[in-house]
Amino acid sequence: MLDKTMTDWQSQADQLKIEGRAFINGRYADALSGQTRPTNNPGNGRKLADVALCGIEDADLAVEGARAAFESGDWSRMAPMDRKMVLVRWAELIEKHADELALLETLDVGKPISDTTNVDVPATVRTIRWSGEAIDKVYDEIPPTPADTLALIQRLPLGVVAAIVPWNFPLSTTAWKLAPSLATGNSVILKPASNTPLSALFIAGLASEAGLPDGVLQVLPGPGGSLGRHLALHMDIDGLTFTGSTPVGKMLMEYSGQSNLKRTFLELGGKSPNIVFADSNLEKAAGMAAAAVFYNGGQTCTAGTRLIVEEKIQDKFLEMVSECAKSWMPGNPLDPATAMGPMIDAGQCKTVADYVDIGRGEGAEIIFGGSQVMQDSGGYYHEPSIFSGVDNAMRIAQEEIFGPVLSVLSFKTAEEAIRIANDSIYGLAGAVWSNNINTAHKVAEAVRVGTMGINNYFGGDITVPFGGFKQSGNGRDKSIHAFHDYTELKTTWIELM
Ligand code: NAD
Repeated sequence: MLDKTMTDWQSQADQLKIEGRAFINGRYADALSGQTRPTNNPGNGRKLADVALCGIEDADLAVEGARAAFESGDWSRMAPMDRKMVLVRWAELIEKHADELALLETLDVGKPISDTTNVDVPATVRTIRWSGEAIDKVYDEIPPTPADTLALIQRLPLGVVAAIVPWNFPLSTTAWKLAPSLATGNSVILKPASNTPLSALFIAGLASEAGLPDGVLQVLPGPGGSLGRHLALHMDIDGLTFTGSTPVGKMLMEYSGQSNLKRTFLELGGKSPNIVFADSNLEKAAGMAAAAVFYNGGQTCTAGTRLIVEEKIQDKFLEMVSECAKSWMPGNPLDPATAMGPMIDAGQCKTVADYVDIGRGEGAEIIFGGSQVMQDSGGYYHEPSIFSGVDNAMRIAQEEIFGPVLSVLSFKTAEEAIRIANDSIYGLAGAVWSNNINTAHKVAEAVRVGTMGINNYFGGDITVPFGGFKQSGNGRDKSIHAFHDYTELKTTWIELM
């Protein structure tokens, strides 16, 4: 239970000092042009802070500093156990500032305060601490070569890495990128989404305080189309790690080819199937079917947006899911009782409303919600919404809406459920609900996604890799496997005299 009330959080928000400058070479600095752009609070539509609007010249300065820091070896050749200590100290400092950081994230992103305090900030601390603690337990290899030779297979840092992240989980996605890339010895330039830069700027200062050498972490707020593109095309950046939409991910692969073939790892969109068999625990499955799509207002890459239900229980199950949807009606993000906050901005709210119209036009039926609400607040709120009678060829079943809209389909056999689930360009996540382990495992194995739950949704933690099949991406965040995205394999072959 949170012990602070909405009034407590509001008065803390009124006192909050917000840092909107970029973080370059170990200090906060204005953009070289002096330009700023406002970031708004999606909960009430009001301006929160002015943020540095970094451009190409800031990027070049940051790359130069990051390269110099890498070449100095102060971080890249620091003993892993010493790098570990810096990352663990950083995690401790973030934990010390947990309330302030959670509040900042809630104000900047519109996430409910109960989520930022219970999920986003603790997950960030755990990711950084875990990656730090892991890095001095990873061994390189000596292969079985002939007796008069010795070969070493080492994993070496890529060099300078750019990390570009989206607005839906700004803090935890940032941690998923920074923790393994820094742990493996790289210098990193982070570009947060232009509308949610505040938490990354906040934790950058704490990294310095924890002992991260200057230039090893640079944070540049600014637009994707110019600043992000410049980083992706940069000839002196060795690796690019990206989380965001599939269309932008495709552009980044092209930029890599047009420039220096920088290693490019992508975590992209999804349209995840959630398959429910009649023999499952329907009460639990209904609660999670609602949570899977309405959590974070549906602005979640892994959202279970396609609910695929065994036909013989469909009517009863939809009543149960609709009942659960009532607990996801949006509210003020600073209220600890709020489960779902606003959409990130007016544009995203309109996109959701447009898809509701598209679904109706395609012949699906809204059986819950379907409208924008709380317009008086100045924020961008949309009801949880459920479409029944959806065909998998419809746009509302194929396209990522990124809002609280559930499309419900039905199946008669396990084979049909698998076929519908796999009929998508995406392959990020999914789940199957059945008390028959044979059915559950057969379906879980056949659905082509990076993470599949059996009798749960959103399962996983820092110990397991996360990423997509198909057009959901090619990289893996989290776990030891994430270290591979930030390192090159190097062989040294030694002839023994
Ligand atoms: P987006 O692709 O529009 O933007 C993501 C980032 O890329 C932002 O920082 C943006 O400024 C930058 N960008 C935009 N155009 C660019 C360009 N031409 N060159 C370089 N950078 C550019 O995505 P979004 O709307 O911020 O986020 C929502 C998307 O992210 C959804 O598709 C969602 O599924 C996806 N996502 C995926 C994961 C995952 O782990 N697979 C996690 C969260 C979000």
